[in-house]
Amino acid sequence: RKSTVVITGASSGVGLYAAKALAKRGWHVVMACRDLAKAEAAAKSVGMSPDSYSLMQIDLGSLDSVRQFVKNFRVSGRSLDALVCNAAIYMPLLKEPLRSPEGYELTMTTNHLGHFLLCNMMLEDLKKSPAPDKRMVILGTVTHNPDELGGKIPPRPDLGNFEGFVEGFKDPISMVDGKKFEPVKAYKDSKVCNVLTMRELHRRYHDSTGITFTSLYPGCVADTPLFRNHYPLFQKLFPWFQKNITGGYVSQDLAGERVAMVVADPEYKQSGAYWSWGNRQKKNGKSFVQKVSPQARDDEKAEKMWIFSQKLVGSL
Ligand code: NDP
Repeated sequence: RKSTVVITGASSGVGLYAAKALAKRGWHVVMACRDLAKAEAAAKSVGMSPDSYSLMQIDLGSLDSVRQFVKNFRVSGRSLDALVCNAAIYMPLLKEPLRSPEGYELTMTTNHLGHFLLCNMMLEDLKKSPAPDKRMVILGTVTHNPDELGGKIPPRPDLGNFEGFVEGFKDPISMVDGKKFEPVKAYKDSKVCNVLTMRELHRRYHDSTGITFTSLYPGCVADTPLFRNHYPLFQKLFPWFQKNITGGYVSQDLAGERVAMVVADPEYKQSGAYWSWGNRQKKNGKSFVQKVSPQARDDEKAEKMWIFSQKLVGSL
């Protein structure tokens, strides 16, 4: 039996190269993407063989779309062996928040709430799979952590007391802490929520299900389209800066390979772990379990994140 992995946002960057790497290892990859024509072209462009993947529509920025995706996946009759939550938007130049169909701020919805709902729903599908080794992997990032050099540049993430979530997260609210809209902070906040989600899934469900829940920082993949909404000059200088000054630069191929390792290799079967290869990439650099940021390792915050996110996404 071929193992099946669902990867969100597999139409570009880290997700696409993770799809390529897992297909090469013999997995069937369900590419969960918002634009299927783009995803199909992307799969072809990296040379994935047509029988190694299928395409399924999902818009993480819409909770109804997430629910529909899970329905469609179940109709497909495949069993689920791994889920990779990878899709994200980063829109540093926005002046006003964009909104999901539910009225929630769009960066937090796409990166966190959509995935939070997807993880909770697909937990059932993972449980049903007969595979002995099942995993759920959520992409983290160094910028979630102000204790790391790469995470020191302001604005820093701050979930506050989830005031924005508590108040319903709709206009005029746009930030999790209820404060003024700041799109870079919205991205970082959403990534802290991603790490908290992984840790809370581990705490709640690892013992009873045997599922491995992990997160990773694949390195700075400075030339993915993630930065497409930044100033053109930034897009030119950032990869150069990461290659020559910080040493953080990782190719998309290597980042995809790292995700595939965390999904499939026995060394990465440690639930609750956040994997990193460090900030400066050395040749044949080894991965290690990294301490996450103070907010992301705060159990009380994790519990609150869970309860308030559950309220916002509604019933499964
Ligand atoms: P890309 O922008 O290249 O890829 C993002 C993917 O998410 C695309 O496939 C995009 O689809 C998809 N996506 C965006 N919005 C939605 C949506 N509403 N519904 C469905 N899919 C959506 O970014 P990266 O590959 O760089 O980033 C991937 C992950 O890696 C993110 O979680 C990011 O936080 C993380 N990461 C990235 C780092 C980096 O340096 N690049 C470093 C650390 C972590 P479409 O093609 O249609 O736009």
